[in-house]
Amino acid sequence: MSTSDDVRNVTIIGSGPGGLTAAIYTARATLEPLVIEGEPSSTSDQPGGQLMLTTDVENFPGFPDGITGPELMAGFRAQAVRFGAEILTAKVSRVDLTTWPFELWVGTTDGDPTYRSRSVIVATGASSLMLGLPAEQRLLGHGLSTCATCDGFFFRDQDICVVGGGDSALEEALFLSRFARTVTVIHRRDTLRASKIMQARAFDNPKIEFLWNTVVADLLGEERLTAVITADVATGEQTTRPFTGIFVAIGHRPNTGLFAGQLELHDNGYLRTFDDRSHTSVEGVFACGDVQDDWYRQAITAAGSGCMAAIDAERWLEAKGH
Ligand code: NAP
Repeated sequence: MSTSDDVRNVTIIGSGPGGLTAAIYTARATLEPLVIEGEPSSTSDQPGGQLMLTTDVENFPGFPDGITGPELMAGFRAQAVRFGAEILTAKVSRVDLTTWPFELWVGTTDGDPTYRSRSVIVATGASSLMLGLPAEQRLLGHGLSTCATCDGFFFRDQDICVVGGGDSALEEALFLSRFARTVTVIHRRDTLRASKIMQARAFDNPKIEFLWNTVVADLLGEERLTAVITADVATGEQTTRPFTGIFVAIGHRPNTGLFAGQLELHDNGYLRTFDDRSHTSVEGVFACGDVQDDWYRQAITAAGSGCMAAIDAERWLEAKGH
């Protein structure tokens, strides 16, 4: 990775719908954006964001027959490249937002910065939450997964479970029902958070069962998952269930670690933006997508906020004389 003396106009960190929409807009504004898209480090952590782990996307306008998440993101990326965005497959390891131009390191945290940039658009998204059980680390990829699209195929004709009561949990359960013998949704309450249409589909699916008011207490198996111990929330009573697959779909954490102490966060860890725009607490740094949205968290809202961040960055640079 070469160290550049050039100062970029816009550097976008992240390549989900927010980051790549910002790339399309800033590229068309001839700002020659650099997109540092991330790099694959596990099945649940890939450039392109959470849509890379999604099966059918049916609510993104313009695709009346639906489209898969990876296909949609490939289209976003190709569109950004077509207008001149430069895309780097790497992870930003450090940023310094206290100097201007801002400084970014890739592949190292020492020495001279890899890139300097007049503006930065943060689009680092959010990551899957885990249950916090010690056995999770051991069994991740060995019966435990956060990505039905990636791993569902391996659970053909098996009895498996999904943890969570939101849209993600039901989407995973519906997808997994194509392969598994049974899919049990384990939810800690007796009502689902998921949208009504997803609930209706899950209730109608003969392979999907529900365990209400239940949490996962432990996972059994050394080399591979052999069973799940569940606990009744009211009585604490534990039951060992012979599930050979468990998919955790209990929500997400915003990816803000890079900006700790440099950008203001909300109490729940999401990046703070101001005045209904994409401005962060540092002038010249903008944010879009799920890293700053704990409410809507949709591909279309992430894309919309990416457009906002691009326009805000463009106007800010113009006002600064660039
Ligand atoms: P979510 O809506 O926050 O749901 C998380 C679920 O996990 C909740 O049911 C929650 O229980 C449960 N949970 C959280 N922590 C837990 C823990 N430690 N142990 C057990 N259960 C736990 O997250 P999401 O389902 O990932 O959805 C996020 C957003 O994306 C939502 O706005 C959703 O509509 C959207 N989305 C849309 C689609 C689609 O339209 N196709 C697909 C996926 C996601 P409680 O209900 O008790 O809090």
